[in-house]
Amino acid sequence: MRILVVEDETTMAESIRTGLVDEGFAVDVAGDGEEALWFAGEVDYDAIILDLMLPKLNGYKVCATLREREDWTPILMLTAKDGHLDEAEGLDTGADDYLTKPFSFVVLLARLRALLRRPGRERPTVLRSGDLSLDPATHEVRRGDELVAVTSREFSILEVLLSRAGEAVGKDEILERVWDFDFDGGPNIVEVYVRSLRKKIDEPFGRSSIKTVRGAGYRIDHDAG
Ligand code: CA
Repeated sequence: MRILVVEDETTMAESIRTGLVDEGFAVDVAGDGEEALWFAGEVDYDAIILDLMLPKLNGYKVCATLREREDWTPILMLTAKDGHLDEAEGLDTGADDYLTKPFSFVVLLARLRALLRRPGRERPTVLRSGDLSLDPATHEVRRGDELVAVTSREFSILEVLLSRAGEAVGKDEILERVWDFDFDGGPNIVEVYVRSLRKKIDEPFGRSSIKTVRGAGYRIDHDAG
């Protein structure tokens, strides 16, 4: 197993490297974001441990660039406590897991092993209904060939509907899957976002693919018009 460690603090990088080598891993260390991209382009790593705050190119940019290159190597992102960038954002750029500093090596190793055990290192499947498609890897939504700009919240709702295409999905369920625990409003917020989604993916194309199912919620159909 070959691991790339991307960390600019040399003491930290060295202690991770030594620990992993002791566990039998082959380890390369990159000291900044550009170097990380270079290494990742040269070697097929089993996993990348990626610090968030890095010189030249930060961890988010490195992660996003790798995914753009269709490189799906599992990434464990290291974030600082009280960092202004939260973990949800880390996961959103394509990191597979995150770990907040300071952490013990035992925990790092456990998280790394869990990541290595996960099946498949493939591109996530593009979700489709008729000529509407949503790509979880690139965060793109298209109607036919045309790219449709949606907000991240709209994207998430559409992802829920498309993953269950042809079935009614309740507003409560959408709320639970798209909003976080801090949200204390009711399911009517879902209506607001669905209305806005329809204006983007349906109306300009003369479609009505998102159906309202009375008393049940919404259902996406591959609708011709
Ligand atoms: Ca750093």
